[in-house]
Amino acid sequence: MVSEKSKLQSEERRERITQELPTEEFETSQKRKIVRLSVNTLPYLYNSIYVVLGDDGVFLVDLGYMTDFNKFLNKFSQEITQRYGVKVEDIKALFITHAHIDHFGGINLIRNVNPNIEVYVHEVDSKAVERFEEVFIYARHYLKIFLARAGLDEEGIKTYVSMYTASKEFLRSAKITRALHDGDKLYGFEVIHTPGHSPGHMCLIFDDVIFTGDHILPYITPHQFPESIMKYTGVGHYIESLDKVREVVLKRKISLGLPAHYSIIEDVVKRIDEIKEHHRNRIRAILDMCKEPLTIVEITERMFPDKKGYQFILALDEVGAHVEYLWDRGFLGIKNIDDFLKDDDVPARWVSVRNYYPKI
Ligand SMILES: [Zn+2]
Ligand SMILES: [Zn+2]
Repeated sequence: MVSEKSKLQSEERRERITQELPTEEFETSQKRKIVRLSVNTLPYLYNSIYVVLGDDGVFLVDLGYMTDFNKFLNKFSQEITQRYGVKVEDIKALFITHAHIDHFGGINLIRNVNPNIEVYVHEVDSKAVERFEEVFIYARHYLKIFLARAGLDEEGIKTYVSMYTASKEFLRSAKITRALHDGDKLYGFEVIHTPGHSPGHMCLIFDDVIFTGDHILPYITPHQFPESIMKYTGVGHYIESLDKVREVVLKRKISLGLPAHYSIIEDVVKRIDEIKEHHRNRIRAILDMCKEPLTIVEITERMFPDKKGYQFILALDEVGAHVEYLWDRGFLGIKNIDDFLKDDDVPARWVSVRNYYPKI
């Protein structure tokens, strides 16, 4: 058993998502180099951007929105140009793991410096990059329905929807070169479609390394979003995608995971098992709680008593995605279904209807 004291020490040792990491070079089994640049994307958020020095050219994995893009250009010139003789103008292509702003928001900025850069995104996330405004406005409607059924009042819904939009309003859409699909191979990269955290999330294999984006992260479990708001998200897809990567990693003898936040994942399979265990426990906790009928807001308040403001919305998404998973599979029922005959957007009171847990 891990003592409280040693748990605390490893907590302190771990790098933080709000912290700049040192630049680090990795070498693949084929002796190709990958360099991690840690950049400040949103306030209190650092992303790991990877520069891949391949046989067919130089590539980037992810380039999120940055408040200070010049800082990135300076860093690139000091850490990459001086050491490897490669300029931003020389980058052949940018692979976007998924269409979240901290991963794709830098496309237009880099095009100002390198107009010829090719940009690749998975097909199912491509419209969120190319038609960002449209996708966001469209999804907002389903978000409102989700929040009403979760048990928020009208005032709460208004506040939360505006919080959601606040961080996204300054971002503009960007053109991509071509959409990618599961199994595609391009410039030495191989695409593994891993929907869940986002609809078109992709992990990329390069030699014996896998870029895991936000699908698999060390220390934290990636944010879950209900599929009722956005297709191809949800816990069901997410867990299937974990199993998919687990199999690929074992079969292909992948030796290193490079995530989009934090440092490295030395044992990807072990990390996948830990994340699955986390969801298994969360699902069991919800089923135990729902022995008495509860709304999603009530479950969230019990499960995350300290979360406030934007953190509470994220927690609400998380619980909502798990409740949806359990409802889809027949483990939860709606106690007050008769209320829905009168009004579609009343809070649903979820109740456990089986005496065993789902297999995850
Ligand atoms: Zn993400
Ligand atoms: Zn991210």
